[in-house]
Amino acid sequence: MKFSEVIGQEELKSKLIQSVKDNRVSHAQLFYGPSGTGKLAIALAYAQYIACTDKQENDSCGVCNSCKKYSKLIHPDLHFVFPVITQQGKQSISDSFINQWREKLIDNAYFTYESWLETIKAENKQGSIYKDEAKEILRKLNLKTFESEFKVMIIWLPEKLNTTAANKLLKIIEEPPQKTLFILISEHREEVLPTISSRTQPIKIRRLTNDEIATALNKRESIDLQRAMLISKLAGGSYIQALYHVQASESRTNHFNYFVKLMRLAYQRNVKELLDLAKDITDEGREKQKAFLSYCLKMIRENFILNNNVSELNMLLEPEQDFAKNFSKFITQANVYKITEEIEVAYYHISRNVNSRIVLTDLFFTIMQLLRV
Ligand SMILES: [Zn+2]
Repeated sequence: MKFSEVIGQEELKSKLIQSVKDNRVSHAQLFYGPSGTGKLAIALAYAQYIACTDKQENDSCGVCNSCKKYSKLIHPDLHFVFPVITQQGKQSISDSFINQWREKLIDNAYFTYESWLETIKAENKQGSIYKDEAKEILRKLNLKTFESEFKVMIIWLPEKLNTTAANKLLKIIEEPPQKTLFILISEHREEVLPTISSRTQPIKIRRLTNDEIATALNKRESIDLQRAMLISKLAGGSYIQALYHVQASESRTNHFNYFVKLMRLAYQRNVKELLDLAKDITDEGREKQKAFLSYCLKMIRENFILNNNVSELNMLLEPEQDFAKNFSKFITQANVYKITEEIEVAYYHISRNVNSRIVLTDLFFTIMQLLRV
């Protein structure tokens, strides 16, 4: 990754580049700061810059052999350590999960610990850096460097080092072999064992500004600037949060479109198209079906409230309000409880793995009956 691909953080980038130019790269650094600020991206750009054989004024070249290998995360002098889970038939070390790691990181360097656990299908297991990993680190650092001047060891979330692993690493972090660079990346610095953190140079990674986030959303996600600005204000300085809001607003739009369609077809008593709609929503998968039903509950409640003229409680977006102007009069004392109950029952059945298409079809037909009472 080049520095130009890292979101914002210009001041820090210059500082890091300058330290390389001045030949004062300290051998163990702790990048710390909240999630979504780009710590991992910065570490990668920094390491790539150090290894680049044709350094430019403000960035790595991106095309030399070293940069090419860095962009695929397969440079032989670049090593990763990250929390993993215990899994049958696999050693509990990062290399057992390295392909998933590379793929995820290349796709998007901005992700959370929880999202990493999802990638490796941890289910309810917690991730940890186990003692076998410490052995691996020692082994790798005792190899000679292959192609570049520095060996780089990026340890993502050192707060997840178990005590045995941490103790094994103390000495090598304090006195690493020649030309070795440790970059530790922490989201909860106070949870890193003090014996480890005291051996590193701390570098604080600040939250992104709204402008930095908006520009990135515009450039990377093709979101128009005005909307990007709005989203950035909800993101609390985290690009991951910003992406989360983008996704949430996209699914809200989807849900809204389905909801409008459902209510129109139910009102028109269009059985054939209601059947098709149940099929379409079934095809989206159970999680989305549940999210859609939750959305329906909310919309029914809001429309009932609106029908009763308690408009100050209304939490609807503009297109939802427009729709509600006409629709709300159909949600009354006479049907609101029954519709709500039916949706809740459908939700329950879908989460219990009952055939979704049957559940949704039944629900839609019941709504058809209830809508014009
Ligand atoms: Zn290069």
